[in-house]
Amino acid sequence: MLVGVETGGTKVVCAAARADAPDRPVAVRRFPTTDPGATIGRIREFIAEAGADEPVEALGLASFGPVDADPSSPRFGTITTTPKAGWADVDLLGRVNQEGLPAAFVSDVLGAAVGELRYGAGRGASSLAYATIGTGVGVGIVIDGRPIGGDGWPEVGHLLVRRHPADRFAGSCPFHGDCLEGLTAGPAVLARWGVDASSFPAGLHDEAFAVLASYIAQMAYSVVLTTGAEKVVLGGGVMLAPGLLDAVRSALPDLARGYGPAALSAAAPEDVLVAPGVPDSPGVVGALALAADLL
Ligand code: ADP
Ligand code: ZN
Repeated sequence: MLVGVETGGTKVVCAAARADAPDRPVAVRRFPTTDPGATIGRIREFIAEAGADEPVEALGLASFGPVDADPSSPRFGTITTTPKAGWADVDLLGRVNQEGLPAAFVSDVLGAAVGELRYGAGRGASSLAYATIGTGVGVGIVIDGRPIGGDGWPEVGHLLVRRHPADRFAGSCPFHGDCLEGLTAGPAVLARWGVDASSFPAGLHDEAFAVLASYIAQMAYSVVLTTGAEKVVLGGGVMLAPGLLDAVRSALPDLARGYGPAALSAAAPEDVLVAPGVPDSPGVVGALALAADLL
């Protein structure tokens, strides 16, 4: 049996699957992320129950961060400088995996990128990025099948973007103000317009979508230029706003002006910018896939 765990800032998803089918969990459990002691206790309970009949052979963990996911680091498996109360410097992997099972540990978005590449919107591609536009913004990248990660990077969520001329908002990132996250994450949308991206009134809707789409498309274009990703999967709560994905697709050609890797120039925006394909929690499916790789 394999166990995959996705620890998010608000909820945890645990799943157990057989080694030959990491994309088809036989058991799933969700619970809120509370303090580390209680949360890790519930994860350990799930692992114990998952191994009741067939022993658990490997674990995969995909966690909110920033995380130290560099296997050569002495702090591998640790959540580092998060502002989330009680969670800074928590040795998540060590406390979850007291049995010392073979274990993979990646950031939540990197887990989602692996899940989407192998079992979702990226099937058949070899390079893919998964972006979440949610409470924060994060991007996980797989290049030529290899998950890219380590000590808290890549940090595409804080990409510096060209301002949209209609946007007067200073930005809400505590470090940079108007970086990508400071301009597009859910809290920035609420702070700027007073409503979430699903609820823009008619008079505001088109301009607000154009502003958001311009930044998200800049990120996607920059990621494609930098990594050669064939697909950029756009996930997270903000992307649930109906029509926003189409607005981002529409913004892409004006930015790219026909320039870019062959995969981009030859493809229509809707082939490159895609919605998540793993119906629920691609991060946990990615965590299971990475666990399966260890066997
Ligand atoms: P997290 O990033 O914490 O894992 P989400 O990806 O669900 O969680 O993102 C939460 C953010 O997305 C919130 O700021 C919320 O305002 C925004 N959001 C959630 N659902 C929607 C929706 N249907 N439409 C627009 N924005 C949404
Ligand atoms: Zn920032």
